[in-house]
Amino acid sequence: KKTLHIVGGGMAGAEAAWQAAQAGVDVVIHEMRPKVETFAHRTGNLAEMVCSNSFRSDDDEQNAVGLLHWEMRAAGGLIMAMADRHRLPAGGALAVDRDVFSQAVTDTLHALPNVTVSHEEITDLPTDGHWIIATGPLTSDALGQAIADETGAERLAFFDAIAPIVYADTIDMSVAWEQSRYDKGETEAEQKAYINCPMTRDQYEAFIDALLAADKTEFHEGETAKYFDGCLPIEVMAERGRETLRHGPMKPIGLTNAHDPDTKAYAVVQLRRDNALGTLYNIVGFQTKMKYGAQTAVFKMIPGLQNASFARLGGIHRNTFINSPTLLDAQMRLKSRPNIRFAGQITGVEGYVESSAMGLLAGRMAAAEILGRPMPEVPQDTAMGALIHHITGGAEAKTFQPMNVNFGLFRPLDGLKGGRKGRKDRYKAYTDRAKAAWSEWLGNGALDAA
Ligand code: FAD
Repeated sequence: KKTLHIVGGGMAGAEAAWQAAQAGVDVVIHEMRPKVETFAHRTGNLAEMVCSNSFRSDDDEQNAVGLLHWEMRAAGGLIMAMADRHRLPAGGALAVDRDVFSQAVTDTLHALPNVTVSHEEITDLPTDGHWIIATGPLTSDALGQAIADETGAERLAFFDAIAPIVYADTIDMSVAWEQSRYDKGETEAEQKAYINCPMTRDQYEAFIDALLAADKTEFHEGETAKYFDGCLPIEVMAERGRETLRHGPMKPIGLTNAHDPDTKAYAVVQLRRDNALGTLYNIVGFQTKMKYGAQTAVFKMIPGLQNASFARLGGIHRNTFINSPTLLDAQMRLKSRPNIRFAGQITGVEGYVESSAMGLLAGRMAAAEILGRPMPEVPQDTAMGALIHHITGGAEAKTFQPMNVNFGLFRPLDGLKGGRKGRKDRYKAYTDRAKAAWSEWLGNGALDAA
């Protein structure tokens, strides 16, 4: 039997392995951790979440990432199954207990008789056999160099940012209170999934002054300061205008101070639960490249966090991705070496969900090829299809940058109102269309489980 080799057991590699194994293919995952570490991963587990513990919105009618969740669930995806099993209350978001989640993915894959995990770094591009490279944003230097040698394309780098994590018992709950914005969520736990810290105008102004004055980590020479979309460092937001944060992560709307319901806060800092025990909270949207000493001083200015201790401070990091529109074919194969597929963030998608989604497709495509089964084209009107079409051809190659799934990638629908007014109807129509197309594709023997 032919074996599928997957380099990297992250979000994409784990999902690809699961999909191929379910189809009956033998799989070897080559994962360098824990022998070789990255600066962001902490364990040797598969599918480790390196930053936020959230898979973002779970709304499959009005949100493109929620639709991607739906499509992955419909395809029997492992990442979604384990996320659902270890879900934490987080309003409309799909947040999980990160350690239990990745342990569950690891255990599930280890338990499969046709999956082997080999802990080793792969440093060269393999010349024969069936391979998927899913080494992610922190692809090791040696393999990155080998890819650059093969593709001739310049390796591109930009920065993401880690939000700090606070020990819950060090938050002053006589100042802070529990509430999800607009009390979102079905259960009381969900409606109280966030901890909120209120600021007066004076406190906000002093906080902005401190942010602007704080010591920051400088960029290395030759690095371009491009950030993970929706993940801008707070000091960069503050530099754009003193009010920017008040309209972004510190917006006070949809929240009522339980200790003082009649006074409207000028700004609110939100913390989201980071583990099942409820012992850790991350400060939502507070990615930063401030130096550690400065971070502690500045974050302790937040009312309620004056005595906070930090389980982890924020940081900045690199991202590696290839120019997929020029390098990959529609089946995610490297045109110059079709025995190699790419999957995950290295293909130029961005985020846990998008990366797992591309792993799901690559795993199915590789399995179909090995088993000699046809693989009908992924319908473009699905979230999966919108993404894969974007990276393998839809995107402008010259200015190619990593992409989150969004309705802007979807083909327009005729006869629907444009603009803000029709947005709700439009999104619903997009998701209805996508679900029908995805179900049909799955039912078409796109890859029957063996
Ligand atoms: P990964 O999950 O990183 O998996 C790649 C795997 O390959 C790793 O396990 C690595 O050890 C292994 N590997 C690398 N090189 C080799 C080699 N040569 N041989 C063998 N194994 C190798 N996304 C979000 O959705 N939300 C966030 O908040 C967020 N924050 C981020 C913060 C940081 C610091 C970084 C770096 C990324 C962040 N991202 C975030 C992006 C997120 O990490 C990725 O989208 C997702 O993990 C990508 O999945 P992947 O499988 O492509 O890569």
